Amino acid sequence: MTKKGLVSLVGAGPGDPDLLTVKALRCLQQADVVVFDRLVSDAVMALIPPGVSRISVGKSRSCHTVPQDQINHLLVDLATSGRRVVRLKGGDPYIFGRGGEEALELHHHDIEFEVVPGITAAAGVSCYTGIPLTHRGLSQGVHFVTGQLQHGDAAAIDWRCLAKPDTTLVIYMGLSNLSHICAELIAAGLDTATPAAAVHRGTQSSQQKVISTLAGLPVAVSRAGLLSPVTTIVGDVVSLSGELDWFSDRSGPTTEEFDHESLDLARA
Ligand code: SAH
Repeated sequence: MTKKGLVSLVGAGPGDPDLLTVKALRCLQQADVVVFDRLVSDAVMALIPPGVSRISVGKSRSCHTVPQDQINHLLVDLATSGRRVVRLKGGDPYIFGRGGEEALELHHHDIEFEVVPGITAAAGVSCYTGIPLTHRGLSQGVHFVTGQLQHGDAAAIDWRCLAKPDTTLVIYMGLSNLSHICAELIAAGLDTATPAAAVHRGTQSSQQKVISTLAGLPVAVSRAGLLSPVTTIVGDVVSLSGELDWFSDRSGPTTEEFDHESLDLARA
């Protein structure tokens, strides 16, 4: 049976439009309709040709998030009606983006689809704040985890497995649970002086970076008034940010709340 329609699940990256892939841009240029969520930056939206329809399914001040099953139905309906659909998602579609659920729905309805990777928040934030996610002698690996801890997820998290001094931890969606997350990591054995960063709107001109220690990060973040979206990075690699941050001078304010004394002690 021939498949119907075509939906491109496209990663829009973390915000800087120059980080869009050539394939993502081509998909936008060939689209009849773009279904997008609130993480897609205005600068990326501006690359959509004027005649293309846009449907927002993300949260904004004036409207609520469209439930996932309605998004799935919308994609199926649009594709079945013969339109060329781009489902544009912040970062990468398959990293905390529910892209897999949408792709499965399209597969179940025999709709042709393709998936275009995007630069995920962890990679964008890392490069634009001078925090290499791995670094010889400091970090041998990376964990990407969600900080959304509703529905009893917190109890299911193996904090000991995440509290590894030789592994960088990247937390998506962790802003509202930051105090709890930092406390759990400390209780699981991670040093209170472990360097930690929280970054709002990484890669965008409005990027804000707060650098602190694991123990100090929640207070530093609330003092700086960071709003969502925020990605948190925990690990010794954060200490490289002072030397490697090439972007901050061109972007928003930086809050450095580094507890140098305890960091030096921890390293000794
Ligand atoms: N699919 C996306 C992640 C979606 S989950 C990706 O691959 O990046 C939403 C979370 O992503 C936010 O809560 C935040 O933790 C992170 N995020 C997305 N864009 C970001 C940005 N520009 N700066 C900082 N964090 C970002």
